[in-house]
Amino acid sequence: MDQPPDEKTPLPQPGQCTCIKPDGSRCRANARTGRDYCFIHDPDSAAEREAARSDGGKERSRRLTVLSVDAPDVRVGSAADITTLLTETMSHVRRGQIAVPVANSVGYLAGITLKALQRDDLEQRVARLESVLARQQANPEADSEIEFVNPEKRR
Ligand SMILES: [Zn+2]
Repeated sequence: MDQPPDEKTPLPQPGQCTCIKPDGSRCRANARTGRDYCFIHDPDSAAEREAARSDGGKERSRRLTVLSVDAPDVRVGSAADITTLLTETMSHVRRGQIAVPVANSVGYLAGITLKALQRDDLEQRVARLESVLARQQANPEADSEIEFVNPEKRR
């Protein structure tokens, strides 16, 4: 590792790493306490450096636990479907099959989907009422029956 210092390479300052780099310049890092080399150049710290690198790799490869890519797509066409999805998600997170942040995301998106379904249902009911009222206004003599039935309860 140590190259012969060339003429221009100054002697190390007290506490400076004594390593001479391949370009002939001296390492400018501080030597480790009681040692002649810095952390990077100390031959005795190779195992520590490898452990630090390995920990960094583990940190990078840590991913959120999710269901398998083979898991079926979620279908939510009704409030009942959302209830099923949420109860399944609760089971998955309790068994450790999905990470808590993933379950939280499912819960958040399920809430948005439920609101959209409810709004869609309301819009359909209002549209039916409007069409009945329009027919009545066009023909007031006709005996039209308005069906005020919540389609959710008709099933
Ligand atoms: Zn060094």
